[in-house]
Amino acid sequence: MIDHKGRKIDYMRISLTDRCNLRCKYCMPDEGVSLLRHEDILSYEEIIKIVRVAANLGISKIRLTGGEPLLRKNITYLVKSIKNIKGIEEVSITTNGILLERLLDDLIEAGLDRINLSLDTMNCATYKEITGSDKLQKVLNGLYKALDSGLKVKINVVPLRGYNIDELIDLVKLTIDRQLDVRFIELMPIGLGKNFDSIENEDILKEIKKEYKIHKMLGTIGNGPAVYYKIQEGKGSIGFISPLSHQFCKECNRIRLTAEGFLKLCLHSNKGISLRDLLRKNISENELEEIMRTIIALKPDRHHFQEDTENEDSRRMHQIGG
Ligand code: SAM
Ligand code: SF4
Repeated sequence: MIDHKGRKIDYMRISLTDRCNLRCKYCMPDEGVSLLRHEDILSYEEIIKIVRVAANLGISKIRLTGGEPLLRKNITYLVKSIKNIKGIEEVSITTNGILLERLLDDLIEAGLDRINLSLDTMNCATYKEITGSDKLQKVLNGLYKALDSGLKVKINVVPLRGYNIDELIDLVKLTIDRQLDVRFIELMPIGLGKNFDSIENEDILKEIKKEYKIHKMLGTIGNGPAVYYKIQEGKGSIGFISPLSHQFCKECNRIRLTAEGFLKLCLHSNKGISLRDLLRKNISENELEEIMRTIIALKPDRHHFQEDTENEDSRRMHQIGG
């Protein structure tokens, strides 16, 4: 559907859980996280109903995220069910990859179209420092298995001053031999992200240009706002997502559904509505469709990360889904 700013809204990110098996420093605190109760989280039946209605409104691409989406039991059932909904063209997952190797075959069989793997470093010590985990090898096994299977894979990297800045070129090198997109995402001042320092994508690009001959690619890959480059002989590409230094709200095509069923219109803003509460009052799919249509049309013009705290959402990234 088209919102009040003329933007085509065709992409919905769904957070399946606020739980995670990692503790990335900029996303989830080590301890003291208050997690949603099982009964507060949307059931698969509720999610499927919402996607059916969203598909009627023109949503054609769904991304499952979290917390860690692969922690949700029987996720392959959900992938398959969403894939079978009329109007849904693509189902993808954003994951930290810890459980990927184990679940990959079933996910592919269920119809999964692509994977975004969050991987900020390929160095075991840095990985442990950022995520608190020593399971980097498990993630890499999942990554290589996904690539070997022919699934479309993107690696998402959040550059963090004092942690992985020296390794960014090593991650870029992965795009030379593999059909793989490596994308740098500017750290957003959400939750714990406010305590860390990132680096502007322009500066990363300058560093890459010192090492490699690269050219800008035309068009987009997938559903996002990334700008892509290619190393001359590279099989894959390098993407930059710059929500702060190059705001892309004018082209924003997405809405979000949190694990507790809040339909969120913008990453930064608290505007939206609890679809869970509506569903649990037994409203019909037709009524839900009208309400969603009205709310989505009001999607904020742009984010106000750097200036407005009044309408800021207090949810953390592991609660929203990124
Ligand atoms: N657990 C899954 C994962 O890590 O891929 C899915 C959820 S995670 C919240 C989704 C993405 O958000 C990850 O790529 C993570 O690096 C990113 N992220 C978390 N906090 C962020 C922040 N403050 N700024 C930018 N990206 C952030
Ligand atoms: Fe978990 Fe993803 Fe947040 Fe890391 S970024 S703590 S993997 S939800």
